[in-house]
Amino acid sequence: HADPALEALQPDDVRALLPRPSVDAQKYTRGVVGVRAGSGTYPGAALLAVSGANTGLVGMVRYVGPEQVADTVRAAHPEVVGDGRVQAWVVGPGGGDDAGDMLVEARADGAPVVVDADALRHVDGPVPGWVLTPHAGELAALLGVERAAVEAAPLEHAREAARRWDCVVLLKGHHTLVADPSGRVRVTTTGVPWLATAGAGDVLSGLVGALLAAGLEPYDAASVGSWLHGAAATEAADGGPLTASRVAVQIPRVVREVL
Ligand code: AMP
Ligand code: MG
Repeated sequence: HADPALEALQPDDVRALLPRPSVDAQKYTRGVVGVRAGSGTYPGAALLAVSGANTGLVGMVRYVGPEQVADTVRAAHPEVVGDGRVQAWVVGPGGGDDAGDMLVEARADGAPVVVDADALRHVDGPVPGWVLTPHAGELAALLGVERAAVEAAPLEHAREAARRWDCVVLLKGHHTLVADPSGRVRVTTTGVPWLATAGAGDVLSGLVGALLAAGLEPYDAASVGSWLHGAAATEAADGGPLTASRVAVQIPRVVREVL
């Protein structure tokens, strides 16, 4: 690519950045990620974000949300526990009208936040250490421009957002871009067009949150998460269609192959 600041992670880079448990690891030392997502209207988004977070890369996953949604999450993921201390939050998928409150609560806790979906509308100032994960439409709304403008110049808009909010911006799409406030950008080379399906982004936000909780820098957590998500999608698709749930279950396999 012509832009010298544009980087692409290679498998060796991902290998070097992946979290590994030390021999004397305990679940708390491996990192705890919390998910605040889901609503009566969108319980599945919470489940998918938790699926992306609960792939064994952290010591523990917490879920905080409506009781009915929590029941659904626990039924599918018996490992998941309730509110408490975390090293990173994932906020927004399926949150609907509650997304603003979810963000306020996560922020009060002090741990860095991966902000996705409905919660993106509630980011109103610099958030150093955080990761925003918009698609083109969500980034357009954040920047107050037309979606077509973002689609025509994704690199410039991702960079501009990273500078403006002083955080890492992961712009999802055909070529996912991860920008940091200094102007660095990583482009994701993994993935398949079958990923353009409901819930795929929710899985990604959970995965990025887990990597952040495991201790990766925000720029690395976002770009390694996007790389693994794309690779898991390629595995799930296996030359054909995929569903978001199936992307999540392929994440451990992709990690194993790269370790
Ligand atoms: P969301 O819009 O939040 O559901 O997220 C969609 C996910 O699918 C993101 O991870 C995108 O990067 C991915 N995606 C969407 N369209 C494509 C495409 N044409 N090719 C590859 N990945 C895509
Ligand atoms: Mg989404």
